[in-house]
Amino acid sequence: MTQRNPRTKIRSKNIDIPTVLVKDGTSSPSLSPMLSPMPSPIDSPIDSPINSPIDSQIDSPIDSLTMSPTLSPVISVIEDPSMSPMLPVLLSSSPSPPLQLSISPTSIEEVVSTIVSRLSMENFKHTIQQLSLIGDRIQGTEIYNEGEAWVVEKLRGEYNYTVEFHTYEQNQPYQNWLSWTKNHLRGPRRNLYVTKVGTVRPDQMYIVSAHLDGRGGGGGANDDASGCALILEMARVFASIKTVTTVRFIFWNSEEIGMIGSKYYVQDRKPLQGIEDPSGVYPEPIWLGMIQHDQILYDHGPIEYHGIQSPSADADIEYEQGTVYQDQSVLLANALLNGNIKYAQRYPAEVSDEMYGTDSVRFADHCPSVSIRENQRKNEMNMGWAPNWHQPTDTWDTYTELDYEFGFDIVRMTAGTVAELAGATL
Ligand SMILES: [Zn+2]
Repeated sequence: MTQRNPRTKIRSKNIDIPTVLVKDGTSSPSLSPMLSPMPSPIDSPIDSPINSPIDSQIDSPIDSLTMSPTLSPVISVIEDPSMSPMLPVLLSSSPSPPLQLSISPTSIEEVVSTIVSRLSMENFKHTIQQLSLIGDRIQGTEIYNEGEAWVVEKLRGEYNYTVEFHTYEQNQPYQNWLSWTKNHLRGPRRNLYVTKVGTVRPDQMYIVSAHLDGRGGGGGANDDASGCALILEMARVFASIKTVTTVRFIFWNSEEIGMIGSKYYVQDRKPLQGIEDPSGVYPEPIWLGMIQHDQILYDHGPIEYHGIQSPSADADIEYEQGTVYQDQSVLLANALLNGNIKYAQRYPAEVSDEMYGTDSVRFADHCPSVSIRENQRKNEMNMGWAPNWHQPTDTWDTYTELDYEFGFDIVRMTAGTVAELAGATL
């Protein structure tokens, strides 16, 4: 019944690509033939040109992203015909011989399946319930702090992570469209993160993220406690495994006022990538890829079908055309698509080219970057497919068991894919 716009869809069930994107500093980016050609551009952007400045991607532009191109890293996909496409291969940036894992493709998939099987639907639901019951986590408010403290207690108290913060000064001027938050706009703010340090390449990392702030009057259960619940549950499971590369789990602040927490993170941390300080410690590993999750529960199709989950419900993995890392972002998106095929149980995924209005946009010119949502941001969400978005109805009990199953399949997809990309072992 659901009508979908096919213009920007890529759907493939047989994509074979290497799973570890690593920086070798010398090679040119390469695209698997399976991934070409690129999808055609959107022919009539709905609310903004696809290549418009980042800050026009919110309701009203509030500032500009200006960063000097201090790094021009090159990502290459390592293709070795002797290796299975899904066998993680890691090349060192040093002159030493390439590193590779002595593990068979079959056992990698077995290992990752074991990791995925440890994910808990109950934990996923519980986090969404608890965070949304705390209330609207508007940046700069006590309720935000309560939500943050709840997440910190889980990560530090239960999962034994070292919790870290990236602080910044939120000093955006008041704008009419921000009237809902005008009393809480300025002041010191912080993003929250924990890091799973890689055993072989601690200096390179994947970022897996969601935004902790939320608004609308219902506690932001779907937007974005659902994404936070994915990050938290994945962090729990990753706490007890090993990974070759580093994985960082980030909870962004100030997303709802224009992706400000991620903006300052990119601005402040980009120049620090790969720096070892002190010896053996890499406070900001090189960014291999960034995967953002923003609303992952509700795909009920067009508004006339809102009563039930769409029979064609799927996860939407989106990259952005025209960005510096467009081609590598396609590879990352297709790695997730492959992860969906292998580790999700019920719902498919598809790739499109309209990542928009969420924290991954800040990374799009700096590393491979994608967002994962329940629906495409422009063709679907902007067309009324998200009736609870920023509404008092975005409460945990608005969503059905099927909606939670749908969201949990995305947890499986991301956790399985990142476990492969990062070279996970038990
Ligand atoms: Zn959101």
